[in-house]
Amino acid sequence: MLTIKHDFHIHTERSLCAYRDAFAKDYIEKAKKMGLKKIGFADHFWDSAYKCLDFLFYEIQNYEHLATIKEEIKNADKEGIEVYFGCEAEYSPEHGVAITEECAEKFDFIIVPNSHTHKTMPAEYAKPDYKAAHLEFMERAYYNILNSPVSGKILSMAHPFDAVCCPYDNNELKRMLTDDKMKYLFTATAEKGIAVEINIGSMKVYDEKTIEMAEEIRMFNIAKECGCKFVFGSDAHNVHNYDEYYIPKCEMMVKALSLKEDDILEFAR
Ligand SMILES: [Zn+2]
Ligand SMILES: [Zn+2]
Repeated sequence: MLTIKHDFHIHTERSLCAYRDAFAKDYIEKAKKMGLKKIGFADHFWDSAYKCLDFLFYEIQNYEHLATIKEEIKNADKEGIEVYFGCEAEYSPEHGVAITEECAEKFDFIIVPNSHTHKTMPAEYAKPDYKAAHLEFMERAYYNILNSPVSGKILSMAHPFDAVCCPYDNNELKRMLTDDKMKYLFTATAEKGIAVEINIGSMKVYDEKTIEMAEEIRMFNIAKECGCKFVFGSDAHNVHNYDEYYIPKCEMMVKALSLKEDDILEFAR
């Protein structure tokens, strides 16, 4: 069976929503013990060159702030592991992705979600009466991210269609997403060479018995049919319990989707 040896979605204490002691050096130590060979830090980011949609959250999370991790990575013992400097850039209705091409080049990789709707979508679409508008917003966001000027730098679509902080069960939105719409978007994703992220953070609630019920299984199977490659990410915001769930839940997903080495994006292999 395929063993996942990478994680390209890790938050450190640089992200305001992460634990204050989520230090890069501790993740690196833990990842090595877990047998991981490649990890990528992806703290939340909004390029200060663009007008910010959520100033309170993103003002501090500019390039200078995120780049302080480079020194920490440099000083860590990286024997047996490759460590990458990335970011979880934000969707911008105006720019596609809220990062300039010049700034994107300073990162080893970027991941972008279409589903931070709690930050990027007009607030009224979050009301239960506006589910169709909520889903449509994510579909449009997905399309705009794929066609943004920085699409060549995007490693993966982070937690696709998994609306964050949704005031009702966000699985309802995933169920409303049609096979045809997914085929259209995932075919374009495969053509761009962008991976679909298997976000272990959102999969934590499932076990071997319940995983078949996960709405993501239908989504990932369609992505696979469309030729998409996958990248795994923990979306860890806390280093302490990281090793308790990451590898077991990766194994669960590999099994549920019958993934082979070839299904993983080459960069992450
Ligand atoms: Zn996210
Ligand atoms: Zn994240």
